[in-house]
Amino acid sequence: MDSSLTKSDEAWRQQLTEEQFLIARKKGTERAFTGAYWDHKEAGTYHCVCCQQPLFSSKTKYDSGSGWPSFWKPIEVDAVTEEADHQLLMTRTEVLCSRCQAHLGHVFEDGPKPTGMRFCINSACLTFEPETSR
Ligand code: FE
Repeated sequence: MDSSLTKSDEAWRQQLTEEQFLIARKKGTERAFTGAYWDHKEAGTYHCVCCQQPLFSSKTKYDSGSGWPSFWKPIEVDAVTEEADHQLLMTRTEVLCSRCQAHLGHVFEDGPKPTGMRFCINSACLTFEPETSR
């Protein structure tokens, strides 16, 4: 983690919308089928809304039917970190940005081949950069 990204809630609030703050910095969840990217199909790269680190490529995005943007792997192995999450009386695996520790979503083992993983990510934690046209 980059220590220059250890910011107070107040500093994050200045940089983010209230929704982005509550989800990315306070481990919230957007309602399914409401985010900007669950049904977004353009080619490009999804970055962390807090620190702009590249996180996921449109090449590994797929329609999971969940109502959240879903990917079968991160853009680089070390782009995200995973942590056990014991909220809601069940154990899930939380996915965080490895650079600024933003909460991104959760990872489940019901994804498509080749990894079998489903990174279920909040749109509010992402910004999208389209692939430059040639
Ligand atoms: Fe980040």
